[in-house]
Amino acid sequence: MGDSGDVRRGFTGVIYHEMVHSLQWNGADRAPGGLIEGIADYVKLKAGYVASHWVRPGDGDRWDQGYDVTARFLDYCNDLRNCFVADLNKKMRNGYSDGYFVDLLGKAVNQLWRGYKAKYGQ
Ligand SMILES: [Zn+2]
Repeated sequence: MGDSGDVRRGFTGVIYHEMVHSLQWNGADRAPGGLIEGIADYVKLKAGYVASHWVRPGDGDRWDQGYDVTARFLDYCNDLRNCFVADLNKKMRNGYSDGYFVDLLGKAVNQLWRGYKAKYGQ
């Protein structure tokens, strides 16, 4: 694949990301910005448009760091419970609370983050 293929692929990834923003809920503006960006990149990940500059699974400092870091974390959470990200998005229609992670996965988000890091030896 040449340069133009990479550019096209990168562009398609951007379209996926932006499309998610137009469809997703934002917790009535109360959700962390990093989570909003992470969900957009999570959909991009599931569509197969991970870019070469993305962090590896397990990398990152905080669960709500955003973009690729949060997308990889959400992928881990979704493996724990199918449709987790879709259900989280539904709950974000009228507000936001970190407690939504407890509601859906039975664990606090920071506990999940530690489990995620541990899974990848970090
Ligand atoms: Zn965005």
